[in-house]
This record gives sequence, structure tokens and C-alpha cells, in this order.
Amino acid sequence: MATSLSGTDVVIVGLGAVGGVAALPLARAGLDVIGIEAGSWLTARDFPPDELRNNVRGWPQAVQKANTEIPTHRRNASAPYSPRPSVHPMMNGVGGTSVHYWAQSWRLNPWDFKVVSETRRRYGAHRIPHGSTVEDWPFGLEELEPYYELVEREVGVSGQAGNIDGAIDARGNIFEGPRKRGYPMPPLRGSEFTDMMAGAARRLGWHAFPGPAAINSQTYDQRAACFYHGYCARGGCPIDAKNSTAVSTIPKAQATGRLKITTQAAVTRVEVDERTGRVTGVTYIRGGQEYFQPAEVVLLASYTYENVRLLLLSKSRAFPSGLSNNRGQVGRHYLSHFQGMSVSALFPFNVNAWYGLPAQGAAVDNWADDNFDHSGVDFIGGGNLWIYSDRRPIQAANMNTFGKAPNWGSAWKSFVRENADRWNTAYIQKTTLPYEDNFLDLDPVVKDPLGFPVIRITADYKENELKIGAFVQDRMEQWYREAGAIAIDRGPAGIMGPSTHAYGGTRMGDNRETNVVNRFGFSHEVPNLGVLGASVMGTSGAHNPTLTAQALAWRTADHLARNWSSIANG
Ligand SMILES: Cc1cc2nc3c(=O)[nH]c(=O)nc-3n(C[C@H](O)[C@H](O)[C@H](O)COP(=O)(O)OP(=O)(O)OC[C@H]3O[C@@H](n4cnc5c(N)ncnc54)[C@H](O)[C@@H]3O)c2cc1C
Ligand code: SF4
Repeated sequence: MATSLSGTDVVIVGLGAVGGVAALPLARAGLDVIGIEAGSWLTARDFPPDELRNNVRGWPQAVQKANTEIPTHRRNASAPYSPRPSVHPMMNGVGGTSVHYWAQSWRLNPWDFKVVSETRRRYGAHRIPHGSTVEDWPFGLEELEPYYELVEREVGVSGQAGNIDGAIDARGNIFEGPRKRGYPMPPLRGSEFTDMMAGAARRLGWHAFPGPAAINSQTYDQRAACFYHGYCARGGCPIDAKNSTAVSTIPKAQATGRLKITTQAAVTRVEVDERTGRVTGVTYIRGGQEYFQPAEVVLLASYTYENVRLLLLSKSRAFPSGLSNNRGQVGRHYLSHFQGMSVSALFPFNVNAWYGLPAQGAAVDNWADDNFDHSGVDFIGGGNLWIYSDRRPIQAANMNTFGKAPNWGSAWKSFVRENADRWNTAYIQKTTLPYEDNFLDLDPVVKDPLGFPVIRITADYKENELKIGAFVQDRMEQWYREAGAIAIDRGPAGIMGPSTHAYGGTRMGDNRETNVVNRFGFSHEVPNLGVLGASVMGTSGAHNPTLTAQALAWRTADHLARNWSSIANG
């Protein structure tokens, strides 16, 4: 029997990158918020620069809930299961995965909001890939722009603007949509390697620029500037220069006195009043005990897989197929960013990439989104080319031998000794679309230690994604060769398994027949249930998701605060 606690205005399930942002506008609006977080607080002592600990053995957090519920994967409904990874990509802790993410903080491109209408307008309806369920977002970039700016300022983002109110600045991304103001901090500095690559891009006539990062390039909000020592690609920052929500928006929300945080508490169910069909609160397990936390409004912010899982697990007479799933849309329109088909290069000289961090790099967006004319190609979308400075010893020794040496023995050792600082792998994020046969559901067999089914991913990259992959691999090879590379290795597509960039499953849109939440992130079927995170996004664009998911979370929270009585009281 669950212990029933005193009620609150809003419960946020998960205080990660997006829940940790939404708490701030709600608390500032005077609402009482309880954040129920599966993980614990982490401190600088949890963040040693230890590659073995962080990158090889998993993460330093005390609570490893995510690792007990790693989704299963199969390529299609009749395919066998793919091998299941031993480590879940995401973090349990206050601040969630923003504690140890790379912190690249991109806005989406205007095209990403209007893929269907812009493709039809420019190339014809027949260019929408067969079987894709892609829809235009219910609004354009201009609607999200003020929220992007709020998050950039409250979290703290470094970068160089490329388009302020239509005035193009070639030091930044000339393809970005108009913004009202520049970034609150200048960009992270380049390195010898990123400067060399930016020069090569310019010689090709391409536009290279420093990417935006939620990392302090100077003292910001009384937190130190980054000192570029690295080891934070899957590690936290010991000096709080990386702006996770644990050091930015969450403490600001706590300072209002309106946010209370319950840590090491795993929500297992969202409860419903069968009579009204409204949510009444959540049940969670903490220290082996079950509690019921009543709330006027529940916001799910537990990352795409857990958002979908909690909805599907919360069955009731009013919602026999899972909460907010009477139209069968929960789990559909799933996609994960296509990051396979990598490109690595070998240089005949040292590139000095021993220091630095993955968010410190040079980007080329000439081949992203619809930034180039697609009339002569047979796909839509594209890829962001990103090269960066970050090399750790174990990673270096794992280098590709580019067919020039065996993978063992003394010939391998001498090749690695000579070339460990002469190679680089680009990070290329490509447009990925939703398709009717890519979806999430509950695994019929595999369960977590509490006995609840884990998420099953049924998904594969389709022709459009594979064509983008081949196209941008050509462009990346061209870029590396221009910079002096003497050998190139192209990686395979890989499988669409558990991902750090998982989208959809609770898609946002005006049409309640094809979307779970409305344009403000509230359920079409349950008016006092909101969903935060990339699970509401119907397109990925060619850039990392977090800043967009955070801007959407702020917008949902803002909408809730402005419309409190109609949402909370029905
Ligand atoms: C190594 C790495 C690098 C990345 N780099 C970037 C990058 O450079 N740029 C970028 O944009 N994105 C990046 N990402 C992705 C980014 O981390 C995610 O987009 C972002 O964290 C998602 O935010 P979220 O709040 O939805 O999930 P999270 O930040 O993971 O937060 C979810 C929270 O919910 C909690 N939770 C889960 N289940 C429950 C439950 N049942 N009850 C209570 N609490 C629960 C978790 O403990 C967690 O704290 C990276 C990810 C990884 C792993
Ligand atoms: S490189 Fe910068 S952000 Fe990363 S841990 Fe060091 S100081 Fe922090």
C-alpha cells in the first residue's frame, strides 16, 4: 500500500536537461513544484578526469537505474534482436544527462520545423520519402526563438551568432534562422587543429564556424570559465564550467523556495481519476517503499524511452492501452539521430588534439538541412559536419589502422606509437525522419528488476538516411583531404539501437489522431498531463537536440503558468 503524501501544484518526473529547465519558470511563477528524480546529487568529487571510469566502465553516478532498463532493439517486426548494449547512454542524477553530455547547444534550422511544406514547395510532394510519417511542426522557428534565448541565458551558452534579425555575420552560422540577440558568451576558443580544418573549409569555399556550447568561455553566473583540459565527454565538470541544469536552472529554481527535490525516487506509474480521466499524481518507489505524490499537474521529463514507458505502463479503465494512448500514438513516430556512416582521417603530421573537449570545434553547415539545392540529388535533408579536439589515451590506442598495419602485435604497437596523434574522426549528424514502421513499445519478455517491461525499439535507417550518409561522407572526405589527410576510413551505418538522441514517441502536433501532445506539450487526451523532452519532437534536423528540447520545456512551463487555472482545474 503506497503512502500518500501531501499534494503539490506540479510534479516533474525527472530533473534532467529538460525537467531541470521547466522547474525554473514554474517556480518563478509562484507554483509549488516537486521534482522526483531517480538519481542523486553529484558533486565535483564525482568528476575525476578518468577515462577508464567514465568512458569504459560506464558513469560515476551512485544510482544506475538507466542501466537496468536498457531498451531492446530489432530492425523490424520480424527481425531477431540486436545485441543489447551493457551500458545505457543516459545518466541518473540531478541534472540528468546534462551533467556529462558534450554540451553542444544548437538551435534547429527554420527548415526543420517545415519539412513537409518546404519540400513540397521547393521540390514537389513526391520528394517526401515513402512511408515517412513526417509532419510540419505546429509552429515555426519564430515561435520558439524567445524560448531559445531564455535558455541560452539562464543555462549559459557560448557561441557566435550568424544571423541577428536578418543581419548575417560570417563569423557565425550564416544558415541559422534569425535571432533577436547574440549569445551571452563568446564562443569557446579554437585549437590548432580546429583552426587548420576551418582554413581548409574556407579554401573549399565552405563556411566554417565555431559551434555553440553550454560551456562557459568566460566567468558566467559566478561559475568559472572552461580550462579545456578535456575528459568531460561522458564526465562531469569539476569546476562547473559545463552548464548542466544541476548547476544552472535547478539551483535558481530552488532559490525561489518553490522547488523541492526528492532524489533516488523512481516513478513507476502516473495515476488517473477514472471518472474524469485526469491525472491525480504519481506513484514512486524510494528505499523499497511505495509513495503516492498527489499533484494538480504532472509533467513527464524522464527522457524519450522512459516517457513512453511510463505512459504505456500507466494503464487504467479510462486508458486501457496506456495513458494518453486511446488513439494508439504513444511510441509512434520514433526516430533516433543518424550518427553512423562516420568518417576518419589519417594525417602525415601530428594534429595536437590531446587537449580540448568535444564541444570545442568547427562546424560546416553547407550540407545540412535544406541549405543547398536538392534538385539534383535523390534525398531530402543533410548533415552537419563537426570536427573537434578531444583525445584520451585509451581512445587514442583504439585508433583505426587505415589498412596500414595489423590490429595486434609489434607492427600494430609501432603504428599506434607513431600515429596516435595523427588521426581524427568527424561527428556527422544527419537528418532522420519518422517512418510508419519505426516505433517503440513494451518488450513482451525483457523486464527491469522491478518486473516492469523495458522499452523495445523496432527501427531501422531507411533509404533517405542512407543516401544522406553517403553524400555527407563524400563531403567530409573532401574536407579532410583538403586539410592534408593521406587516408580515409568510412564507417558503416550501424543499427538504430538505444540512442542519446531519441525523438518522438509522444509527438507534438495539432492533429490529435496522429500526435500525443498538443502544440504546448500537453496531452490531447489528458489535459493536466504534459510531456517534456525530445519525445515531443517530430523531426531531428542535423543538430543535437537538447537546446531545442529545453526551449520547448520552458515554453510548456510558461504556457502552464499563464493558463494555470484552466489546465489545473479543468
Ligand atoms: C555522452 C553524451 C553526450 C551528449 N552530448 C550532447 C550534446 O553535445 N548536445 C546535445 O544537445 N545533446 C547531447 N546529448 C543528449 C542529451 O544528453 C539529451 O538530449 C538530454 O539530456 C535529454 O534531456 P532529458 O531531460 O530528456 O533526459 P535526461 O537529461 O537524461 O534526464 C532525465 C532524468 O529523468 C530521470 N528519470 C528517468 N526515469 C525516471 C523515473 N522513472 N522516475 C524519476 N526520474 C526518472 C533520470 O534520472 C534523469 O535525471 C548527449 C548525451 C550523451 C549520453
Ligand atoms: S574541459 Fe572545460 S567543461 Fe570540460 S571538464 Fe574541463 S573545465 Fe569542465
